[in-house]
Amino acid sequence: MTLVVRDALMDGRRVGVRCEGGTIAAIGPEVSPAPGDETIEAGGAHLVPPLVNGHTHAAMTLFRGSGGDLPLMPWLEEKIWPVEAKLDDEDVYWGARLACAEMVRSGTTRFWDMYWHPGATARAVTDAGLRAAIGAPLFDLHGSHEQLREMAERGLDALSGYGPEIAPALAPHAIYTVSEESLRWIAELSAERDLPVQIHLSETEKEVQDCLAAHGERPAFYLDRLGLLSERTVLAHGVWLDPDELALIAERSATVVTNPVANMKLAVGGVFPHPAARAAGVAVGLGTDGAGSNDSLDLLADLKTFALVQKHAAADPTAIDAAEAWAVATGARAPRLGAAALEPSAPADFLLLRPDAPELGIGDLTADLVYAASGAVVDTTVVGGEVLMRGGQVPGLEEIVAHAAERAGRLGL
Ligand SMILES: [Zn+2]
Repeated sequence: MTLVVRDALMDGRRVGVRCEGGTIAAIGPEVSPAPGDETIEAGGAHLVPPLVNGHTHAAMTLFRGSGGDLPLMPWLEEKIWPVEAKLDDEDVYWGARLACAEMVRSGTTRFWDMYWHPGATARAVTDAGLRAAIGAPLFDLHGSHEQLREMAERGLDALSGYGPEIAPALAPHAIYTVSEESLRWIAELSAERDLPVQIHLSETEKEVQDCLAAHGERPAFYLDRLGLLSERTVLAHGVWLDPDELALIAERSATVVTNPVANMKLAVGGVFPHPAARAAGVAVGLGTDGAGSNDSLDLLADLKTFALVQKHAAADPTAIDAAEAWAVATGARAPRLGAAALEPSAPADFLLLRPDAPELGIGDLTADLVYAASGAVVDTTVVGGEVLMRGGQVPGLEEIVAHAAERAGRLGL
């Protein structure tokens, strides 16, 4: 099926987009529909690349609004982990479907997920028409190295057999929940099978102090010594990384995903040092983290918080500008995360913004998107040439919300 968008606005000029076989066949002023093409009349809507959410726990939409005013460890130990022990595939499927619907609605088309029952998330992503790198969370804090290996293999098995829209990943939870032996094994497995690794790193200052006390080195150096800091590594948070760690991360071509809203909600007490990270050459992406600790999946809204908290922490309004913030949110500052490109032969993933969005009517579009907009400005979301949302309406949303609420109720949430 050929999809043709006509009369969209890109970088100030009127363009059309022809999508064939899931990719952009042509883009430019000369593109117009042929008889029989599925056509979207954009009516002067802005055409922009979609956002990439670099760190999520998608099915945690089920935990939204539950125990959200506690510190990190009591929140995990009392509210999250006991309920997670009861999750089944259908819970995760509907929680992730809800997350996907919210992402489609707010302009995110690719995300990096770490959650239980990863096969159920993969099924949800596929049914929703999105793209994701997915890993089962790996812990051996209360278990053995052998159990962790089994968990990892089971997770990878559950993620096999999907199309290119699902990228299997390894997801050791953190350095304080996974043993040195297991982290080394994960590093070897990642290298052997060329699998990306997602891990929480340097989220709290306590994590850094504990790492120094236990291993005599800071978290990034610890990971590096275990072979786990490479171009395949995606580090979530990085709030407490120091300049030497940033230089090392840049040298190893690893990626850091900052999650400013979740960090502020859990009051981690610091801010990811973005200006220093960029100066060091670190690849950086933006994430929401799970809906249990954000509680939103609207990355376009978090983009404002990202830019503002960077300016505020640096006591310098020039610490980051709108173009840089937008580039981070669309994945353009982190090649590993999978940014979409609006050019021929790239996957046909893009957004059309509401032509009548009042927030976008005056001034520079990028500045408006970063400082004034939220996901509500997204009118149309297209992934692989498939229209997932048109006119701000996600098909089947009511049913998805009802199913997710029912699963949350079953879990006592
Ligand atoms: Zn997380």
